[in-house]
Amino acid sequence: MTPLRLAVVGAGVSGLSAACELDRASHDDRVPCQITVFEAEGRVGGRVLSAEVRGQRVDVGAESMLVRDPSTIETLSALGLDGELVRPGTTSASIWSGRRLVPIPKGTSLGVPLHPLQPGVVRSLGPWGSLRAFLEPWLLGPTVSPDDPLGPFLEGRLGKAAVRRLVDPLLGGVYAGPAELLSVGAVAPHLLSALGRDRSLLRGLRQQPAAPPGAVTGFISLRSGLQTLAEKLAGGLDPSALRLQTPVRGAWPAPLGQMRVETGQGSEEFDGLVLALPAPSAAELLQGLAPELARELRRQRYSNVATITLAYPESAISRRPPGSGFLVPRFPGRVVTACTFMDQKWPHLRRPGILLLRASAGGHGDDWPLEVDDATLVTSVHTHLRRHLGLRQVPLEARVQRWSPALPQYRAGHLAWRDSVEAQVAALSYPVVLAGAAYRGVGMEACLRDGVRAARALWQRLGSAAAMESRGRAGDGHP
Ligand SMILES: Cc1cc2nc3c(=O)[nH]c(=O)nc-3n(C[C@H](O)[C@H](O)[C@H](O)COP(=O)(O)OP(=O)(O)OC[C@H]3O[C@@H](n4cnc5c(N)ncnc54)[C@H](O)[C@@H]3O)c2cc1C
Repeated sequence: MTPLRLAVVGAGVSGLSAACELDRASHDDRVPCQITVFEAEGRVGGRVLSAEVRGQRVDVGAESMLVRDPSTIETLSALGLDGELVRPGTTSASIWSGRRLVPIPKGTSLGVPLHPLQPGVVRSLGPWGSLRAFLEPWLLGPTVSPDDPLGPFLEGRLGKAAVRRLVDPLLGGVYAGPAELLSVGAVAPHLLSALGRDRSLLRGLRQQPAAPPGAVTGFISLRSGLQTLAEKLAGGLDPSALRLQTPVRGAWPAPLGQMRVETGQGSEEFDGLVLALPAPSAAELLQGLAPELARELRRQRYSNVATITLAYPESAISRRPPGSGFLVPRFPGRVVTACTFMDQKWPHLRRPGILLLRASAGGHGDDWPLEVDDATLVTSVHTHLRRHLGLRQVPLEARVQRWSPALPQYRAGHLAWRDSVEAQVAALSYPVVLAGAAYRGVGMEACLRDGVRAARALWQRLGSAAAMESRGRAGDGHP
């Protein structure tokens, strides 16, 4: 039987997850396959990267995984990562008020305070801001369609203070994008579910069902860094599958319904293709196969972000603030957007005498960290952290990591955009599928899941194509 030749382009978590799922399907269905993973960089992981800072392996891209689906833990277990799993020492965090760090109140859902008159909420929003949010069940406010922008809807419901002081900084921490642009249904579908339960958003959120008892959910990481997950996924594939430092330049139609994939080393034919890339990179490759789809994919916008990991002598700070870190709301000239106290959040990173911080800079429409050199970036960040935390010494070591593109912006209209992209992909006469953070969630768990979804879609397509073909010609070796 001639093996099916399948290519995955992009060895981030989405692409690796897709490659592993294709490998699994080929074994389960006893269909020989030759899988090739093309990756532009000299390593796997994409936006997941662990690096040494002051002798510690820390994450300089994604640094924690929010597990909502128990099957994620099963996947990690199957990869032999049980002993590597770590949970945060603390998940409480603060928001910089302009003068001091104010703890994020307990009982919020993506920054929406379920009980606005609680003292913690009053500290965050002020008495008028809290009162305004408290009145939502009586005043109600605007209704919302799934693909509308989140900011105006929540402002109409809860008032400006709740959005500016809680929701927007929290969204910025996840999406590096502003509440007024992001799509409710794409970034906060649980708010729509709450409105399905009750006309009042707050009442609906309070009725939200609790996670089933015993469900393994919450934030996790890996002792040796999240890149280990990418390495384990890659390690499960045939060693010859992985082609690092091999950017794909284009995909073109080839005879017999195949696709010709072009790299700097020549071109090869494949029976199926998974593009697990940022949308603009997928657009470039699809220009030759599907120009209309490529145009649609180019509409997805991204934010750019830098992480700056800093090791200070512990004596640089007189008193460590509690919690896992803080977020900084938007204001003109903002330098640091968030800071994680890495060794408080992750106890395994604690070392005597060292304070380990990770700052984030940049975000939607704010590309300055890409435009300055490392020394300027580190000095600016240190100057601002000194103000926020009262640091008295300079860092012993700093590591800068720039991410461009970093995070797709699920703007209002994202759901319609995704439907349109998926319809165009389904209508292609070539077996190509798309996967990755651009479509169904930016978090690592969503990307792992999307890789599996895309692989299954491709496998199904190849199966039905082969079934149709085998009616015409027997013994072609397809599933
Ligand atoms: C700074 C930062 C912090 C984050 N923090 C978290 C977090 O704490 N928790 C969380 O869950 N998520 C976090 N995320 C989001 C998450 O890391 C990403 O959404 C996810 O890793 C994206 O995976 P992906 O495989 O879809 O894409 P990517 O990781 O972008 O992978 C795409 C791969 O394709 C390769 N590529 C591009 N073009 C080509 C080409 N032409 N040919 C071959 N290869 C190509 C790239 O080199 C890359 O390796 C963070 C993201 C960033 C940037």
